[in-house]
Amino acid sequence: AGAEQPSSAAEPWQHPSVSRPALISCAGAARAERQQLLPRVQRAQTQRAVKFLHCHSTSLESVTDPRDGKRVALKKMPNVFQNLVSCKRVFRELKMLCFFKHDNVLSALDILQPPHIDYFEEIYVVTELMQSDLHKIIVSPQPLSSDHVKVFLYQILRGLKYLHSAGILHRDIKPGNLLVNSNCVLKICDFGLARVEELDESRHMTQEVVTQYYRAPEILMGSRHYSNAIDIWSVGCIFAELLGRRILFQAQSPIQQLDLITDLLGTPSLEAMRTACEGAKAHILRGPHKQPSLPVLYTLSSQATHEAVHLLCRMLVFDPSKRISAKDALAHPYLDEGRLRYHTCMCKCCFSTSTGRVYTSDFEPITNPKFDDTFEKNLSSVRQVKEIIHQFILEQQKGNRVPLCINPQSAAFKSFISSTVAQPSEMPPSPLVWE
Ligand SMILES: [Zn+2]
Repeated sequence: AGAEQPSSAAEPWQHPSVSRPALISCAGAARAERQQLLPRVQRAQTQRAVKFLHCHSTSLESVTDPRDGKRVALKKMPNVFQNLVSCKRVFRELKMLCFFKHDNVLSALDILQPPHIDYFEEIYVVTELMQSDLHKIIVSPQPLSSDHVKVFLYQILRGLKYLHSAGILHRDIKPGNLLVNSNCVLKICDFGLARVEELDESRHMTQEVVTQYYRAPEILMGSRHYSNAIDIWSVGCIFAELLGRRILFQAQSPIQQLDLITDLLGTPSLEAMRTACEGAKAHILRGPHKQPSLPVLYTLSSQATHEAVHLLCRMLVFDPSKRISAKDALAHPYLDEGRLRYHTCMCKCCFSTSTGRVYTSDFEPITNPKFDDTFEKNLSSVRQVKEIIHQFILEQQKGNRVPLCINPQSAAFKSFISSTVAQPSEMPPSPLVWE
């Protein structure tokens, strides 16, 4: 412990066994096709073809930035301007991607130069390239050591602490949205469902959030208002999945999802269900009284130590107001080794000198000021939002490097441009409406 604030640059917790975690294999992600990304000014002379791969549910392509030769990911946001709701959602995501500055949160490195506004239909965002994600890693046969689990969980919570400090609820934390590169660096991605927290408890929030297996009990029970604790619930489910290599609560329906949760945690108290809708409460009270069966978590794997299960049980708390926060979870002793490993050989915030490692003064930084979503209040028509987004992208590029655009002569351009992603049908299923 005591790792939060090292008092000097001397290594606070140098440990002989600490080293970079074993590399994660990222085989199987490649679908070789060709795609070209060109700086606008060099369009005519440069004809550099690069590979691209499909490694995400949204079209996320691996391309080479011709300005510096670095491999980056290109994310296409299609059909942006179909209606006001999709415009606003995409603009919010775009603003967030440009706002984030944290190593465990995916951010926009660049946005491709938009065409004239009359032809402006899609937005292309350049992000850092990540080879895999936690879902692919969990279902793969490659072994995951307890070091892997600790360093992944540490980074998830580190990123989440930052997001929550920005006032942002991710609302769809799941293994597929946690990108991982071969050095085991992890970044939270996909902010399509993210929003700013609602502090006014009388305001209703949409329940169309969170993939069912990772959905918090308060959402399953129809609470009209929820907090960033829903993200922590998802992290708890993922923690258990990392340990057990299988989905913790894999139900066929939202009701069964809730039943699996109460099988583990026992019947919740009335106090813990105070925000639930009447129908959901009636369902729980009608059923048999269940005793908690938390010791079963020790059987997840041999890595489910006392410390691991203790932290897990602080995340999988039925009552959201009693669930641990990302900040407090990071102070749990289970994560000390993950922090040590991350900052000894994986982070960008500390550095090595000939006399040793110089550690940052803040291992888990937050953001100040918060993300400001007041811009959304004045968005009233598709045309207006389109103009604002167009202007926003041009402003992002001001003073920046040479703007990038897609080369329409590229062989794969047509298939790329016609691909569609993340339509409403692919959104998480709606929760049950309790009658
Ligand atoms: Zn560091």
